Amino acid sequence: MTSLDYGNDYADIRDQVRRICAGFPGSYWQALDEKAEYPHAFVDALTESGYLAALIPETYGGAGLPLRAASVILETIHANGCSAAACHAQMYTMGTVLRYGSEAQKRKYLPGIASGELRLQAFGVTEPTTGSDTTQLKTRADRQGDTYVVNGQKIWTSRALQSDLMLLLARTTPVDQVKKRTEGLSTFLVDLREVRGKGCEIRPIKTMINHNTTEVFFDNMVIPADALVGVEGRGFQNILAGMNAERVLIASEALGDGRYFLERGVAYAKERSVFGNPIGRNQGIAFPLATAYAQLEAAEMMVRKAAALYDAGQDCGEAANIAKYLASEAAWYAADQTFQTFGGFAFAREYHIERKWREVRLWRTAPISNNMVLNFVAQNVLGLPRSY
Ligand SMILES: Cc1cc2nc3c(=O)[nH]c(=O)nc-3n(C[C@H](O)[C@H](O)[C@H](O)COP(=O)(O)OP(=O)(O)OC[C@H]3O[C@@H](n4cnc5c(N)ncnc54)[C@H](O)[C@@H]3O)c2cc1C
Repeated sequence: MTSLDYGNDYADIRDQVRRICAGFPGSYWQALDEKAEYPHAFVDALTESGYLAALIPETYGGAGLPLRAASVILETIHANGCSAAACHAQMYTMGTVLRYGSEAQKRKYLPGIASGELRLQAFGVTEPTTGSDTTQLKTRADRQGDTYVVNGQKIWTSRALQSDLMLLLARTTPVDQVKKRTEGLSTFLVDLREVRGKGCEIRPIKTMINHNTTEVFFDNMVIPADALVGVEGRGFQNILAGMNAERVLIASEALGDGRYFLERGVAYAKERSVFGNPIGRNQGIAFPLATAYAQLEAAEMMVRKAAALYDAGQDCGEAANIAKYLASEAAWYAADQTFQTFGGFAFAREYHIERKWREVRLWRTAPISNNMVLNFVAQNVLGLPRSY
């Protein structure tokens, strides 16, 4: 027997999140965007609501909700014109500690992360010279007695300046000494409060969106040996499970962005009258908006499927990757068609279209570029030969 459980699931969460978002209108985000400032008040409100601790088990002070609930939270934030990009990683970066950390690490960190007293929302993977080729990353962590000494550089480490802790992926065994290049990498929970100015330097990067991203430099940075999360050399495997959750959650944000644009595009197409008619009567305006709607509906089904598989403990790699691909493309299409629908007014900052349009472009590139998603599908789903 088949069943269709479809509709606005977690209606109470959607309602509560909508109420929080109502306190942070477009003018709030616009002002921050112009000054490239961090949305402290929004992040504080979200922290107080407990929603950022949705995925932390109750034993460690969180809400113990499934990934689908977190997906609804983030989608609702974005559908209401807000942005969770400043703090979404607080929700899921802890997953590596939860899955692979020792009981002592969980007890030490998770309750503080759940309450928001500790910020773990920086994830250092990408490097300037190796990019998407993660297993070739150059940052080294060498064991010396009771410590590791870290040297190297990360780029695009978002929110490092707003984090107490950073999850770091570094090589502990040189790549020419391992059988597979996915081996010999390790994950560390770095206490940024201890190392900043002592071998760790964080420099902000100016970007086209207000994203608080940084470069992080390690110069003989010493961290305690117990900063290692999980087994040494298994770091790449440690982050894979977390990456699937991240893809579902980013896809949810993209979906919310797409809904935000579509709502505005449709409303404007109805009210704007040129040549004596509402512009939405022209199929050149109506069809792109209808196409955007169809694409968002399809993407939503895949986001729900990926979250359901994840929550059931089943392999969700294929679904999570496809969800991220479809949702980011659908959101970008909805954004661009809404931009076109608004004509010249799309360029005026007061309509919030140009700012959100800049923001939504990111999802096609990060946390993984869509070409790499297609590589995953081509190789791992369709069995085609690897091109690189
Ligand atoms: C605002 C922002 C925030 C970010 N936050 C974080 C963060 O917090 N932590 C973190 O670790 N990283 C972060 N990233 C990094 C992000 O994950 C990378 O930018 C992304 O994975 C792409 O890597 P790259 O920029 O080095 O591009 P490259 O790997 O240099 O790729 C450039 C282009 O070539 C394409 N390409 C490369 N190889 C292939 C191939 N084999 N087949 C087909 N196409 C290919 C890519 O798809 C892409 O379009 C962030 C990036 C941005 C812009």
